[in-house]
Amino acid sequence: MRIIIHRGTHQIDGTCVELRVGETRIILDYGMPLAASDGKEVNESSLQDRTAAELIKEHVLFDIPGLYNGQEPQVSGILISHSHKDHYGLLNYLHPDIPVYVSEGALKLIHVLNVFTHKRSHISIQNPYIVKHKASFDIGDFRVTPYLVDHSGFDAMSFLIEEKPTGKRLFYSGDFRASGWRRSLFDRFIKNPPKGINCLLMEGTMIERQGGAYEDESAVLSGVEDALKKTEKNVVLAYCSGQNIDRIVTFYKAARHAKALLIIDPYIATVLHVLKNERNKIPQLDWDSI
Ligand SMILES: [Zn+2]
Repeated sequence: MRIIIHRGTHQIDGTCVELRVGETRIILDYGMPLAASDGKEVNESSLQDRTAAELIKEHVLFDIPGLYNGQEPQVSGILISHSHKDHYGLLNYLHPDIPVYVSEGALKLIHVLNVFTHKRSHISIQNPYIVKHKASFDIGDFRVTPYLVDHSGFDAMSFLIEEKPTGKRLFYSGDFRASGWRRSLFDRFIKNPPKGINCLLMEGTMIERQGGAYEDESAVLSGVEDALKKTEKNVVLAYCSGQNIDRIVTFYKAARHAKALLIIDPYIATVLHVLKNERNKIPQLDWDSI
């Protein structure tokens, strides 16, 4: 197996890794970077009218033959770990015939963003294949097994990737944590991890950051409950990413405990609406009360 890390070392944005074995080539994530490979700042809104060939010249896209629109497709698939733009933000340039392997929840969140953003920032996935926790599938000479992980990006996956001819195994963590409401996914994984890994590619976004104000989502919940208890006002404003389902659950729980009414904006309401078929993955919400 040949591993080419196009971007993702020494930076936390714009992850892109290519794997090759025999004739099979796959890509792990293709995120929007803050800066091009030559260090120039990347302005997302200025990219939209450009061709892949132009952006390769400007070092925003990598010269990966057979990946882009306008080229003869030679890449067998791209795996998207989750719905944060630093992991999928350059998919618009992909050749539309190349399959994109992504979880159902992540695909829905990628699409729902298009409803609320300007056309210039829309990202559409033409040829999606839905992946599920521990349901293995083959892409040419690779066998891929997704593992659901705890992350602020809903329905995020790690990938175990095996080179079929030799049995060599690579594990790609994607973004993960052990502090959300789905921490049990991390604990279960650690108790019984896949065996015989030859190469581990692990995200380390927080490795150099010292602890934040709250250790985990339970601590955030206590903090929000305290704020609700202490306030003398009738309205308390809360802010979070509309796709951060765990944080919305936290606000929901705090409001319930305080017997307060939680009002959400139309964007969060739409996010919850599109995820209603995934409700088994968000057990903390009483969906009938929403
Ligand atoms: Zn992420």
